[in-house]
Amino acid sequence: MRTFSIAIHGGAGTITRSLMSSEKEKLYREALTYALNQGEEILRKNGTALDAVTAAVVALENNPLFNAGKGAVFTNTGKHEMDAAIMRGDTLEAGAVAGISAVKNPILLAKEIMQFSGHVFLAGNQAEDFARSRGLAFETPEYFHDEFRFGQWMSVKDEEGYQLDHTDEKKFGTVGAVAKDAFGNLAAATSTGGMTNKRWGRIGDSPVIGAGTYANNESCAISCTGHGEFFIRAVVAYDIHCLMVYKGLSLQQACELVVNDKLVKMGGEGGLIAVDHLGNIALPFNSEGMYRGFATPEESIIEIYK
Ligand code: ASP
Repeated sequence: MRTFSIAIHGGAGTITRSLMSSEKEKLYREALTYALNQGEEILRKNGTALDAVTAAVVALENNPLFNAGKGAVFTNTGKHEMDAAIMRGDTLEAGAVAGISAVKNPILLAKEIMQFSGHVFLAGNQAEDFARSRGLAFETPEYFHDEFRFGQWMSVKDEEGYQLDHTDEKKFGTVGAVAKDAFGNLAAATSTGGMTNKRWGRIGDSPVIGAGTYANNESCAISCTGHGEFFIRAVVAYDIHCLMVYKGLSLQQACELVVNDKLVKMGGEGGLIAVDHLGNIALPFNSEGMYRGFATPEESIIEIYK
């Protein structure tokens, strides 16, 4: 068994070498390395999986390259509506938030909800009232504004549907982290701006416990990225847990079955990061690429393409 394992993602989608300049690739790699290091350092010092996934996701939320926190995509009305969730595998406590616009780090609000609200899932303005009562940092719309995301929205805003976070480079920029700590505990965290041009208070899979985020010491911790509607309908994260617990599949087998068979048959594009109670890591995706990385006591790796 590994003393610790951590994996992160910065979204899945069509990420091909031909669409990526070397400067941009360098920026992504640096951002992923920085976020991974934030979590890894905590685990190396015998910190908790919960603190490690929180630190990694905060680092990704603060970087406008990713569709979470600063740099979140625009809704149909030109706003930001962010979703996030966190879960600990030892107690099965969870916190989730949807449709918030001004909290600097949605993952910190999800954690406060888990620890101090007496509830699991809060939404909208009233979730922000709770954030205020907990003294969390707020930001202005200018802080969340990113020219690249704005351009993405302008190009599709008069169209009927919503868009996955893409232009010529189709990708889902949601972020997430999963970890196993030295105490054998697991945790998962996911944060997103959702999908460009989304309407009617649309909420994706990321904050839905069991769909985009799940952790259970009996099996694994999971954080998903991809076309959220499919991930909700396939109850992706909990399905992987069930396949391991009820059917005895390994982490790798369960992830492969769900991501590269069940989801593909439904038409659900995306991927996920997973760690099991032994510290094994799986990073499956059925899209062309996924911004991802993992670290164990022995190695630390960042990857983007297939
Ligand atoms: N899963 C996210 C959602 O549907 C999108 C993403 O992964 O980028 O909201």
